[in-house]
Amino acid sequence: MSGNYGKVYLVGSGPGDPELLTLKARRLIDSAEIIIYDQLPGKAILDSMPTSAEKIDVGKYAGNHTMTQAEINKVLVQKAKEGKTVVRLKGGDPYVFGRGGEEAEVLVAEGIEFEVVPGITSAIAVPAYAGIPVTHRESTSMVTFITGHEDPTKEESGLDWDTLAKFGGTIVILMGVKMLGRNAEELMKHGKAPDTPVAVIERGTRADQRVTVGTLANIAELAKERGVKAPAITVVGDVVRLHEILGEQRAGADF
Ligand code: SAH
Repeated sequence: MSGNYGKVYLVGSGPGDPELLTLKARRLIDSAEIIIYDQLPGKAILDSMPTSAEKIDVGKYAGNHTMTQAEINKVLVQKAKEGKTVVRLKGGDPYVFGRGGEEAEVLVAEGIEFEVVPGITSAIAVPAYAGIPVTHRESTSMVTFITGHEDPTKEESGLDWDTLAKFGGTIVILMGVKMLGRNAEELMKHGKAPDTPVAVIERGTRADQRVTVGTLANIAELAKERGVKAPAITVVGDVVRLHEILGEQRAGADF
């Protein structure tokens, strides 16, 4: 490990409500020399980055394509090797579908010191703000988190739909907007009841959060009608019924 290298903090920013940032994340953002970010943390948090830091948006187009993970890794390594204190800011938790694990591995391989700062994952907090506990004693004590993002041109899905359809617990799907219809169909095809409740929560915890509730049978159509867009979390299971009872909350209008 070189003494001249800077340290990299892989920081989770939580689901978007700026009050759900951890104290540690806030401190590191405020004192960072360089912040490498994408758009997932959301406007309120990105607007709160200090003017003193150099800010690099790796979610932006580079030339005529979005930056690949390899290019992002390169920027991280290059900046750390310049001896800078780098914050790699990521939505939610860095190690939940955030490719944070891959970035950490690259840093280790390059001999760069790093620290992970867990964040509140959208997978749990977004349903919570929509009045949906991911587990509930009376409906389920199991929950699984899956990525719904699969290449639509792929014939075979990488997910084990048979196991998922039989799984009695709550299924939380991240990155699932584009494939919502196909994922709902797969679950029904493998035996999950068409009237299973489903909620899609867009921009969860933020001031403009929106919840769409339906069933496996009609959620794709509802989402289309309402123009549902990413980022959104899909929750499949009986816990979705609690939305009616517990109600919604969101970030205050001040943010
Ligand atoms: N590491 C992140 C997830 C990154 S994958 C975390 O722990 O939350 C990106 C996906 O996260 C999005 O496609 C969406 O499914 C989900 N997501 C993140 N923030 C969200 C938000 N505020 N509202 C709804 N979905 C969100």
